[in-house]
Amino acid sequence: MQEADVGGVHVKYLYHCRRQLWLYARGVRPEHLNATVQLGEAVHDTSYQRSSPVDLGAAKLDHVDGHQWVHEIKSSSRATRADEAQAIHYCYRLHEVGVPAEGAILHYPRTRRTKRIHYGAAEATRAQSDIKEVLAVVAAASSPSRLAHSACRGCSFLDYCWSD
Ligand code: SF4
Repeated sequence: MQEADVGGVHVKYLYHCRRQLWLYARGVRPEHLNATVQLGEAVHDTSYQRSSPVDLGAAKLDHVDGHQWVHEIKSSSRATRADEAQAIHYCYRLHEVGVPAEGAILHYPRTRRTKRIHYGAAEATRAQSDIKEVLAVVAAASSPSRLAHSACRGCSFLDYCWSD
């Protein structure tokens, strides 16, 4: 895996659970079995019908408006560090291809909340360091430890990690 292969999902998993990142990077994909992920897809499908996804290769984001703000639709009720890191990563990737993203607006349709994140030098540095951290986790020979079971709620790898 190279720096260019690191996408928003990798960064999100880096913040949520390093084991999740490690499994995902190895092609384990139990998402279709998980009700939380299905809910996320349903919220996404019904919330932003008019926008077009933007494909940056490894990173696929929901929408960039005419003022260069990234919009991301989330199925959870409020912003997490993982959501924020993922959005910053998208801004970083946009800057790489010459789109001067101002920042990101996270939308939470279930609670009608939004969170606005400005993108600047500090965020660019953070995005670079997140990419390096993703590569370090993925390169590890064995999977990182599980989180505490209480922190695994809703994770698509729940059955995989806790079947013993
Ligand atoms: S089930 Fe828990 S330990 Fe396993 S990948 Fe998900 S969050 Fe991490």
